[in-house]
Amino acid sequence: MNNYRIETKCVQEGWKPANGQPRVLPIIQSTTYKYESADQMGRLFDLQESGYFYTRLANPTNDCVAAKLAALEGGIGAMLTSSGQAASFFSIINIVSEGQHVVCSSAIYGGTFNLFNSSLRKLGIDFTFVDPGCSEDELNAAFKDNTRAVFCETIANPSLHVSDIPMYAKCAHEHGVPLIVDNTFATPINCRPIEWGADIVIHSTSKYLDGHATQVGGAIVDSGNFDWNNGKFPELTTPDETYHGVVYTEHFGKAAYITKCTTHLMRDYGAIPAPQNSFLLNLGMETLHLRMKQHCSNALKVSQFLENNDNVSWVNYPGLASSKDYELAKKLMPNGTCGVVSFGVKGGRDAAVKFMDNLKLCAIVTHVADARTCVLHPASTTHRQLTDEQLQHGGISPDLIRLSVGIENADDIIEDIAQALNTL
Ligand SMILES: *Cc1c(COP(=O)(O)O)cnc(C)c1O
Repeated sequence: MNNYRIETKCVQEGWKPANGQPRVLPIIQSTTYKYESADQMGRLFDLQESGYFYTRLANPTNDCVAAKLAALEGGIGAMLTSSGQAASFFSIINIVSEGQHVVCSSAIYGGTFNLFNSSLRKLGIDFTFVDPGCSEDELNAAFKDNTRAVFCETIANPSLHVSDIPMYAKCAHEHGVPLIVDNTFATPINCRPIEWGADIVIHSTSKYLDGHATQVGGAIVDSGNFDWNNGKFPELTTPDETYHGVVYTEHFGKAAYITKCTTHLMRDYGAIPAPQNSFLLNLGMETLHLRMKQHCSNALKVSQFLENNDNVSWVNYPGLASSKDYELAKKLMPNGTCGVVSFGVKGGRDAAVKFMDNLKLCAIVTHVADARTCVLHPASTTHRQLTDEQLQHGGISPDLIRLSVGIENADDIIEDIAQALNTL
């Protein structure tokens, strides 16, 4: 399938039925799998043979959808998780332990920031958060001897900051550690971070990949490109006694990282998606290429309208020529960025609330990045745990309105926004 273009992969990758099998991906809603001999099952448990034995470790429906995502991102393997949060968590703890350190862009999703800055710190993992627009020197200065990973988002939620993935990758690799990129907002349609040097790509599949807000899920994709044999990653290069001494890099080669995710992390921590949810995710992914095009063209029209409206104090959309990240976005995402636009209304916080209350088509919801246009005020909802200082550090001003532009007709979206702005 490697020669097909990405639109074809969206539709055709993953489930490839043999003669007489169902045309559509089957939902294998079974926890267990039957074998003829205890001996064979024993070999599965020791990772000497591959096969399904318990859905927490692997499930055929989940695996097909993971394979589709790996193909879209250009990775060698992927694992689905029950949420994006689980994917972020696993992507780090697969290779970072107590007493070690991660360099992270400060422009990240609020839930990821809490996970890293609070929960993972309690587990003894240290983080240095760098300014998302930092120079190469500033980024290099954040590394320590015990740094084991670098983390950023292609387009940050909700600040929409675009990360200079090639620069992050260069610095990470110079320090012998992998770059992990959360590619939720760009999706592999608009950006494939592995092509720009990222080693691991993660997703909240709850957003554009699903696209219909029907399931919460996440994913980790392994590029297979990082060489773990530099002495910094003994969890991958020395025997895992819980699997009778398997050495992941020896047994699984380029797939060491993603194999450890499934065999070790899923076994011990759980967080597998229901096969039913993976089925829904797959349906969404079949139209990802069509939807992203419409999200991007609608968002550009909406952001251009906002830019020319007197009640709007500022607009941020990486696809706008006025955006500070426009050039970088054009380089990394020549076909478009995402459907999310942020802006502030004149009159600050109170005006923002009034504006939102007067919208009719655009709905107030916590979710983002699905087919229906929706709107959110992060400072009073998703990011309410953060102090004003932490908000500003993450590129979120208290008056920021996050507008997730859907795939309706752009004129209807603009007319709704215009009438709500006129009430101010
Ligand atoms: C939503 C989101 C997450 C968390 O994903 P869930 O599926 O809600 O757990 C992580 N990263 C980004 C960029 C997100 O937008």
